[in-house]
Amino acid sequence: MAYRNLAKNANRSIGPTAPRKRYLAEKGAQIQRQDSLVGDLSRHPLTEQSINRKLQSYESEVKGRFERIVPLLKKVSALQHDQDFISSAQQFSRSELGFDLPTDVLEKAWVSPLDMRALFAWCVFQAYQQASDNFFKSDPLNGEKESNEAREFESFLNDCGFHLLDITPCADGRLAHSIAYVLRIPFSAVRRRSHAGALFDIEQTVNRWVKTEHHRYRESIPNSAHLDTRYLKVVTYHFSSVDPHHQGCAAHGSDDSLAASEGYQRLLDFREAIENSFCCGASVDLLLIGVDTDTDAIRVHIPSPDGTMSLDKWVSALDLYKETISMTKEEASQTILNRIKSGSDVTPDLGMADFIARLISNNISQIDYVRELHSGPYPDAGHAEKFIGVGIGFKEIHLRNLTYFTHLDTVEEGAADLDVGVKIFKGLNVSRDLPVPVVIRFDYSGSVPGARDRAIADCRRVDDAISVRYRDLVDDGLLHTLLTIRDRDQRSPAEAVGSSLNPSTKEVH
Ligand SMILES: [Zn+2]
Repeated sequence: MAYRNLAKNANRSIGPTAPRKRYLAEKGAQIQRQDSLVGDLSRHPLTEQSINRKLQSYESEVKGRFERIVPLLKKVSALQHDQDFISSAQQFSRSELGFDLPTDVLEKAWVSPLDMRALFAWCVFQAYQQASDNFFKSDPLNGEKESNEAREFESFLNDCGFHLLDITPCADGRLAHSIAYVLRIPFSAVRRRSHAGALFDIEQTVNRWVKTEHHRYRESIPNSAHLDTRYLKVVTYHFSSVDPHHQGCAAHGSDDSLAASEGYQRLLDFREAIENSFCCGASVDLLLIGVDTDTDAIRVHIPSPDGTMSLDKWVSALDLYKETISMTKEEASQTILNRIKSGSDVTPDLGMADFIARLISNNISQIDYVRELHSGPYPDAGHAEKFIGVGIGFKEIHLRNLTYFTHLDTVEEGAADLDVGVKIFKGLNVSRDLPVPVVIRFDYSGSVPGARDRAIADCRRVDDAISVRYRDLVDDGLLHTLLTIRDRDQRSPAEAVGSSLNPSTKEVH
C-alpha cells in the first residue's frame, strides 16, 4: 500500500508546474517573512564554521562535476561537424570534466548524429567514479575509521552506553547526506542502510545485531560482551516545512504522522524480534528522528528508558536554535541538555540525553549551513538526483540529492523501490531526452574466498534483470548501467566491472 503512495507521489515531486512553482515561490516568500532566522545572518555560537566551509567545498566540488556535464555536452554537440572535432571535444572534456569522452562514440559523428545519450551516461558514470576515487583516497569528510573524528565519536558513543549505532534514513536522495551533514557523524562510526520510507528490513537488522554481539563475545569488538552497553537503532523519517502536502516522504504519501508512526512501529517490531529470539535480557535501544528536507533541521522524539516515545511530541532543533542563539556556547549547550531531559513528557536515560544533545548541537551547524548557503530553505525542494544507486554499498555517497538509493539483493525484491526511482528519473532526465544513469554496486569482503566473483555475478544478474524490466528504455538508449564492486575490507574505491556503454567487453576503460 505504501508503495502505491510512493509511485503516486513520485509524480508530484517532479518538474513543478507553473501554478506549483508560483505556490512554492509564494510559500517561500511567506516563510522568509515569518521566520526571523532567514535574512538574519548572525550565526549560532555552536555552529562549527570551519567544518561548514569544508563540507561546502566538498559538496560544490562533487556536485559541480555533475552539473558541468550538460553545458559541456552542448558545446561538444555544436562542434560535431568541425574538421578537428574529436581532438577539440576531448580537449574541452579534459579541461572541464577532467576525463576523456569515449572515442568510439565520437568517431561516428561524421556518419550519424552524435549519441548524446551515451555521452551523457558516460559522463555521469565518470563523475561518479571520480567522486568515489577521491572519497576513498583522501577521506574528504574525515570519517574513516582511523580519523581522530571517528575515534572520538566512537568513544563518546560508548560513554553514552551504546556499542553500535545503526541508522536507517529514507532512500530519498534528499536524505543521502543525513549522516555526514545533517547529524555530523563520522561515516565509519555508524551503520547506514537506506530504505524507502525508512522502513528497514527487520530480519536483516536482526542478523546485523547477531553479528555485532558475536564480535563482542569473540573479539571484544567494539567492546566486551560483559559491558552493559546497547545496540542503538535509529530511524530518520522526513517531512517538508515548505510544501508539506507534496514534498514529504513519498512512501508515506507526504503524511508526516504516518511516516513517524510506521517508523516507530518498525523500531518496536525490531526490538520485539530481538527480545523474543534471544534470552538473557537481550534488547536494543531505539530512537526516532524527523528531518525537515527544506532546512535539514531535525526533531527528536525523546525515548523513555523503556523505549516509549510520543509521536506528536518532540524536541525541535530549530526551536532550540532560536532560543539559544544569543547565549554563550556553554549556556546554549546546557539549555539544550535541559530541554531534552525535562522538556518532554518522558525523561530519557542520561546517556541517551547526552547523545541527543550532541545530535542537536551538530544539527545547529547544519541549520546555519543551509541558511547561509541558500539564504533560506533549499531551492530544490523536490527530487534532483543525478543517478540511481542499486545494490549493496555506496559508503561514499554523502550528498543531498545526488543519488536515489535502491538497496536490494535481487531486482524482484527491490522492484517497487526501483520502479519509483525510474519514474523519478523519467521526470528528471527522460523528459529531456537524457538517459537514466544506474550505478549497480555490490560490496564484498576480500577476506572471504570467492566473494569478489560472486559480487561480479550479482552485478550482472541485477543488470540483466534491469534490462528485462525496463526493456523499452534500454532499447532506446534511455537507461544505461555501470557495474561496480568494492572490497569493503580495504579503503579502495569502487571498481567498474562492466557497463551497458561497452556491452561487448563488459569492461569500462
Ligand atoms: Zn521518504
